[in-house]
Formats: sequence, C-alpha cells, structure tokens
Amino acid sequence: MNAVCGEGNLNAEIMLVAQAPGEKEDKEGRMFIGPSGKVLDELLKSAGISRQAVYMTNLIKCALPKYRKPKQDEIEACSCYLDEEIELIDPRILAPLGYCAARYIFQKYGLLSPSKSEFSSIHGKLFLADDKKILPLPHPAVLLHNADFEQDLKKSYRKLQVASKVCKWHPVCPMKRFYEEGRLDGKWIELYCKGDWESCVRYQMEERGEPHPDWMLPDGTLDEKLHGRKRR
Ligand code: SF4
Repeated sequence: MNAVCGEGNLNAEIMLVAQAPGEKEDKEGRMFIGPSGKVLDELLKSAGISRQAVYMTNLIKCALPKYRKPKQDEIEACSCYLDEEIELIDPRILAPLGYCAARYIFQKYGLLSPSKSEFSSIHGKLFLADDKKILPLPHPAVLLHNADFEQDLKKSYRKLQVASKVCKWHPVCPMKRFYEEGRLDGKWIELYCKGDWESCVRYQMEERGEPHPDWMLPDGTLDEKLHGRKRR
C-alpha cells in the first residue's frame, strides 16, 4: 500500500480534495489516474480548467478497504497532512469532492456541516470561510455508477471556472460603489462579484436586459438602506 501525496500546481488557485486514493492510485502512488481520474479530466475540460492549473489531494492518503468511508480515527490521524497542504498551497478556492471531504472542510472552517442527505443540495454552491471560498462538488466517481448525472456534474464543475473570474459588470456595478463607500458588506462582493456571479439576480437581469434598482442585492432582495442613490 502506498501513501499517495497530493500533486499538481503548487501555485494553484484551486485545490481539489477527494476522499482517498483508489486502487490504481494506490498501486502507482499518483492522484486521479484510475477511472475516476478520466472522468475528472473530462469534467475539468468541460469547465475550461486544465489539470495543470489545479492542485489535487485526498483527505485520507492511503486506500481504504473496498472503498469504504473513512472512520473518525482515520480522519484524525491523516488530516494533519491535508491541513499542511492547504497552508502551503494557500488556494483561493477549496473544492471538496464528495461528502466526507466536504464534511471535513466545513468543520475545519467552522461552517455548518450538511447532512449526507442534504449534500447534493449544496453541490456547486459557494461558501465563504476565512480567506477561502469553499465549493463542494460531487466526486467524479458518481458518473461511473450513474451516467444520468453527467449534466448535473458538468454544471457543478463549471462553477470552478465561474469562481475563478470576476463578474464582467463589476467595474460599473453599484454594488462595487456601495462596498467602496463602506455601505455594503464585502461578503456580497466575494460571494457573487468575485465568486458565483452567474447566480447573481442582478447579473441575470442585466443579461436579459431587464431594469433593476441600484439597491437590489445580488440575491434579489431590496435593501432600503442602499436606497436614495441614482439608478443604474
Ligand atoms: S452584483 Fe451581480 S451584476 Fe453586479 S458585479 Fe456583482 S455579480 Fe455582477
């Protein structure tokens, strides 16, 4: 049995964290070289992200018998290596792949950990924690068991590319001005303008050419405190 080290771009903005190595990874001591790796490559390609641009690692560094879930004592024994990798690589976006990795990352950053049944509802949703953005994604192996989920996974993985860019409307958006004037919490900028701008209601209305008030927040709620300035 091999302990499989993380690998990839040491200056990566994106770090993928899977659960544990598979059989092939265990034999060769490399990340994502088995069937799941092929699926991951396809998902990254469809998201416009190259494998060379990311750093990838596992929560548990050794293969688990019959792909079972890691036990708590195994997580406690092994997670110090992941903690150190996160500190060294210092990615802007941490993307846990699958439930176990997501639960560990959520707990590490003091976020409310989703239950297993809720996990699919947060796939591709962005969370803020310290200076990181957490983007939980389904593990690529999901597609080895059920190809029907392909479009869902592609949609979730596309968020990696979205979160890597800034919204094209940011330079002229009232939210930027409100933030610079100290009237808007920076979490809106990080979560939407420099995060998942595709999910911003303002962005969607802008794309459809629909008028919307300056004091509409990215989630579509109207903030009367921001009222009273010129409309966009
Ligand atoms: S508030 Fe929405 S439209 Fe404006 S810059 Fe941010 S993401 Fe883009």
